[in-house]
Amino acid sequence: MISETLQNAINEQITAEMWSANLYLSMSFYFEREGFSGFAHWMKKQSQEEMEHAYTMADYIFKRGGVAKIDKIDVVPQNWGSVLEVFEHVYQHECHVSALIDKLVSIAHEEKDNATQDFLWGFVREQVEEEATAQGIVDKVKRAGETGLFFLDSQLGARK
Ligand code: MG
Repeated sequence: MISETLQNAINEQITAEMWSANLYLSMSFYFEREGFSGFAHWMKKQSQEEMEHAYTMADYIFKRGGVAKIDKIDVVPQNWGSVLEVFEHVYQHECHVSALIDKLVSIAHEEKDNATQDFLWGFVREQVEEEATAQGIVDKVKRAGETGLFFLDSQLGARK
């Protein structure tokens, strides 16, 4: 059985994951408006991944005999100034998410809940990948000229 403190903390993270899903969907819509259909596709996939994180966390709470809850999801940004600005935002946001996951691990540690710590390590590892991927795209966008940007768009559009 999961402690109420930990259950509430994971529930907060479920809301945060859903907010992230909305943020990336909003970025997808922005790219669609700007004519970058590949980036739009990549962001939609990113958004779906965040929803999967929310489902995984809810499933975990259920398995541990807890109650999963969804709180109010705040409004997300709708507009950015450039492709670079969007991907820099993705990188910053992933760093923020990493900090949230680290905080959850600390709470699980304080609650002496080994199973939850073990569950969370998967997300800790995932965040290493997320930060590296976002940083990698930022670097590529910085180096890309107009032609390079459209090449990158079609490359990211191939995300499965
Ligand atoms: Mg996530």
